[in-house]
Amino acid sequence: MISGSSRGRLAGDGCERDWIWDREVETATPDATFARAAAAWERQLRHLREDSPFYARRLGSAPVGLGELHRLPFTSKQDLNQAIDVRPPFGANLAVPEARVKRVYQTSGTSGSPSMIGLTSFDIETWTEIGTRTYFATGIHDHHSVLTTFGAGPFVAGHTHFVLNRIAARAVPVAPGDTERVIFGLRAGLADTLLATPSFAQYLANRLEAGEARDWALAHVVTGGEPGGGIPAVRDHVQSVLGVTVNEIMGIGDIAPSLFGECPLQQGMHFCGAGHVWPELVDPDTQAPIGIEAGAVGELAYTHLTRQAMPVVRFLSGDIVRIEGTACDCGRTGFRMRCLGRRDDMFIVRGVNVYPSAIVALVAEHRPRVTGRARVVRGGEGVAVEPPVPVEVEVPAGTVDDARLAGELEHAIHAHLTFRARVQLVPEAEFGDNAYKTRLTVQR
Ligand SMILES: [Zn+2]
Repeated sequence: MISGSSRGRLAGDGCERDWIWDREVETATPDATFARAAAAWERQLRHLREDSPFYARRLGSAPVGLGELHRLPFTSKQDLNQAIDVRPPFGANLAVPEARVKRVYQTSGTSGSPSMIGLTSFDIETWTEIGTRTYFATGIHDHHSVLTTFGAGPFVAGHTHFVLNRIAARAVPVAPGDTERVIFGLRAGLADTLLATPSFAQYLANRLEAGEARDWALAHVVTGGEPGGGIPAVRDHVQSVLGVTVNEIMGIGDIAPSLFGECPLQQGMHFCGAGHVWPELVDPDTQAPIGIEAGAVGELAYTHLTRQAMPVVRFLSGDIVRIEGTACDCGRTGFRMRCLGRRDDMFIVRGVNVYPSAIVALVAEHRPRVTGRARVVRGGEGVAVEPPVPVEVEVPAGTVDDARLAGELEHAIHAHLTFRARVQLVPEAEFGDNAYKTRLTVQR
């Protein structure tokens, strides 16, 4: 065996395949990565000025190198929505003739109507390439068999089917929401890998604790769609009950559906978009640039370097992340991060910023008296919340009457997060949402 060949592989994977999909790009030095990106940006800036009415107006005509990106304005989701009003259905930032758009996804449209994400053939290929680096980084190889509950569309997660094809893994698609068929497929030994939201992975683990059989081949769960797979108490629970390795991936519809993938060393998600996407870290309040180095916390902003159809520049993602490091024993040089949550989910208690995922992390430590799901109830519009902060915690039917539990959770939140909470225990049957995704904040 090649020395160190297990560093990037899942436990038990003895294959000979290189564990890095695109070694030249993914292990490049920071200087080489910057040089490649800077050359791509030069071409992209010309494309934007010539072909995107939206950006031609915003970018002006002065030369702007990649290192001077901070001189350009940010793009918000609101800007893109206004661009759609100007030129529906794609928006004034469509930078190719409509006939060249060969695939259309839609966003979930949490407020108002969904927006369109159009791709040229080249863009489809780029998404597949980035996604392949991402999923390959989690340890999925051609000899694996992957059960996925992503539909083909309308959402961008459907693009994962192209990625599994590229890796040449076996794909076992199950319709979103068809829980019984997932369990049937796993029991039948159809898959050793499951792609799921952390909510669903927890749901599965909780059902197994309740007496489900565990005679299946499942060894690897890749979580995505929401934070959770990186929260120690959540991860440990799923790993120990299901007997699997859990790692996570993340993407964002307007940029690329899978852009970050965590390697089997489980030290945070690697940025996998080098050469196609340029990431920046900024202060979520002031938008001042923050260096991408271990320990830094900020909002990710993205610039497409090669996107043809609907490129964006300095797009504010709303995702708040903590940088875990810029090197890894697996050999990848793409920085590693954990997502703390959405900017919109953040609230402030007496001057302290709080992300609901921090509450979930504490609550999950009280298993099995809790299921692992929790959410914050917000009343008003503002981000400032007066304590005690209402928190709803899902519990198995048997523990609703656990009089001490609410008090213990309130104490844990106060001790670790320094604010007072008012915890209400909600039985599984009444918690609502579905097993696939949990909203961390509800307005009521
Ligand atoms: Zn790594």
